[in-house]
Amino acid sequence: MTDGSYDYDLFVIGGGSGGVRAARRAAMLGKRVAIAEEYRFGGTCVIRGCVPKKLMVYASQFSESFEDAAGFGWSVGERKFDWAQLIANKDREIERLEGIYRANVEKAGAQILMSRAELVGPHEIRLTDSGRTVTADQIVIAVGGRANPHPGLPGAEHCITSNEAFHLKRLPPAIVILGGGYIAVEFANIFHGLGSQVTLVYRGKEILQGFDDDIRHELHQAMVTKGIDIRCEDTLSEVIQKPDGRFEAHLACGEILDAYEVMLAIGRKANTENLGCEAAGVTLDSRGAVVVDAYSRTSAPNIWAVGDVTHRLQLTPVAIHEAMCLIRTLYHDDPTEPDYDTVPTAVFSQPEIGTVGLTEAQAAKAFASVDIYRASFKPMKNTLSGRQERMLMKLVVDGSTQRVVGAHVFGPDAGELAQVLGVAVKAGLTKDQFDATMALHPTAAEELVTMYEPSYRLEGGDRV
Ligand code: NDP
Repeated sequence: MTDGSYDYDLFVIGGGSGGVRAARRAAMLGKRVAIAEEYRFGGTCVIRGCVPKKLMVYASQFSESFEDAAGFGWSVGERKFDWAQLIANKDREIERLEGIYRANVEKAGAQILMSRAELVGPHEIRLTDSGRTVTADQIVIAVGGRANPHPGLPGAEHCITSNEAFHLKRLPPAIVILGGGYIAVEFANIFHGLGSQVTLVYRGKEILQGFDDDIRHELHQAMVTKGIDIRCEDTLSEVIQKPDGRFEAHLACGEILDAYEVMLAIGRKANTENLGCEAAGVTLDSRGAVVVDAYSRTSAPNIWAVGDVTHRLQLTPVAIHEAMCLIRTLYHDDPTEPDYDTVPTAVFSQPEIGTVGLTEAQAAKAFASVDIYRASFKPMKNTLSGRQERMLMKLVVDGSTQRVVGAHVFGPDAGELAQVLGVAVKAGLTKDQFDATMALHPTAAEELVTMYEPSYRLEGGDRV
């Protein structure tokens, strides 16, 4: 599927997880590939998302570790946190990873173009830095997304998003965060752990819509117990900058909160503005995301899109998977649809959430009967540490087939557990097969194979 009259067989716009994978794989197959990136290689995940976030999660966990140490006989001396040092160390690590991303693309034989690229036709791309236009047989749009700047909020220009949160000059003594999704919850815990006074404002009844209700409730309680102020069923109505540089965050309920920073974490928007989609015949949806079919093909037959720009599942491994499927479709004569069934995911809150498959509420709608196995207990480490936090594990089982259709964990290392549980749930294992697996003692995870009796059953959606 190539035409030698073009400058390139494949042109990739965007050097994030999806774009880099597509470019590398195609180049390794001997295709003439170029990849354009306007900023830094690595995309949201490496530069301003998953990776720096996780490093900051680690940093923020030390405050509790120092407290917990006393129960194990340690006395910890004076504790001092240096924000500038954390940011500098984190930036150095991101730079190292960025270099690896670039090197891998080069090693594969793809040409790197450090420029913004815009579509000017179905086969033509303009490099805005030089004004040069190049042509390609196939094009992949992998430009990702960016934080929604909330233009409807008076004073939104005073607010930061996760982008700026990674580069603040100092740790804000008090911060107000708007949103109840992944980013809002993760950053509320990061800032709290580092010593900020945090208020989380969420418009819905309970944070983390879409996750299992039990787990949402447990995390909410744990965050409040730590000292994070959570305001549900409220929102920001205005943000005003005060003469001293601080901010007033006005809530819809009428209250005014004093803050050093106000952070917006209300979802992300596709980076399709001025990309030339219209000129190339690429249709966008009402939110600006690129519309694709099951094979990631846009409305222009030779233009494809992968990753966050399509608003499917905004997760790094999903973007990489979409790119791998696209390469099979394009160059292996094997049309391959990405598989979105049972994708494990984690929220790096404190404690963490790790989850795969259906929630209790989703299973109640999908199956006539559902068995719920639920264990709530104090993790062993919390005995001597004196920390009151509990761990929650939950298996959701289809009553008729006994297949485990959902697994949800709230507690230390829940993300690590969800990855392994993902194998079992994806493989369609039954509860009997979980029970037949020997427990590994002493671990928290052994609960997952020792919950022999259902905690309760749902029939026709109702608890019996
Ligand atoms: P999410 O979609 O997770 O959450 C957005 C939140 O903002 C929701 O609580 C939503 O409320 C709320 N919201 C939306 N619009 C408004 C508005 N106008 N006013 C007030 N509140 C609003 O988005 P995030 O920005 O947190 O993260 C973006 C995506 O990045 C995630 O969906 C996820 O796919 C990915 N991500 C994954 C991570 C991980 O894997 N650990 C970590 C971080 C991000 P409501 O629920 O009512 O719609």
